[in-house]
Amino acid sequence: MSLLELNEVRAFYGAIEALKGISLSVNEGEIVTLIGSNGAGKSTTLKAVCGQVKISGEIKFAGKDMTSSPPHQAALEGIAHVPEGRRIFPKLTVKENLEMGAFSVKDKKMVKKRMERAFAYFPRLKERINQVGGTMSGGEQQMLAIARALMMQPKILLLDEPSMGLAPIIVEQIFDIIQELNREGMTILLVEQNAFQALQIAHRGYVIQTGEIMMEDDAGLLLSNELVKEAYLA
Ligand code: ATP
Repeated sequence: MSLLELNEVRAFYGAIEALKGISLSVNEGEIVTLIGSNGAGKSTTLKAVCGQVKISGEIKFAGKDMTSSPPHQAALEGIAHVPEGRRIFPKLTVKENLEMGAFSVKDKKMVKKRMERAFAYFPRLKERINQVGGTMSGGEQQMLAIARALMMQPKILLLDEPSMGLAPIIVEQIFDIIQELNREGMTILLVEQNAFQALQIAHRGYVIQTGEIMMEDDAGLLLSNELVKEAYLA
């Protein structure tokens, strides 16, 4: 069943048309990746889904019309956005960052339970529970950004370039965790410039170029597609 649906979504920054009528869907339980080069409109697509940019067209989530919903509404409905550049709170500890992720949950026991669940995916964060976020490595900060998003127990995770600036071995660890989260039921929309790795863990993929979807297919088929290979997997 389709959890997220974008129909003919257009977005402008001033006179620049960043999205020129994007249509895509993410089914419950899928990892869908959106690949494309710099400036193609990947981040804008995620921002559109979580209400951070104004759009025309239609966005539906879990059957509800979210086309003009503000960001807090998207969060309430279960859409968690992990933006590019892992914007954690650098002066707060790991624990405090995670608590911020569950700020709307009043029940302290529930917060603790969710934190333990997040630590099960990211044991390294548990070891560093009292460390200040800004002093952690890039990979650890990315883990914290994802863990913080999990604290709201979302229905979908929108991940914007989780591999950015990280060493290959760390990227592998993060992608393993993304896959594990998905195996346990999390639906994921993954934006990546690292097309090869993204397509390896995704079920389906969309190729976006200057604000338009150029191709969509099963991830395995995109991986072996000559045009994709030439443009994005070289
Ligand atoms: P990258 O991988 O480099 O982040 P992207 O595919 O995520 O690229 P977007 O960030 O969505 O691309 O940008 C799409 C287009 O919109 C680009 O031409 C970009 O310059 C433009 N754009 C993005 N944000 C803004 C903004 N706040 N103001 C003006 N133009 C913007």
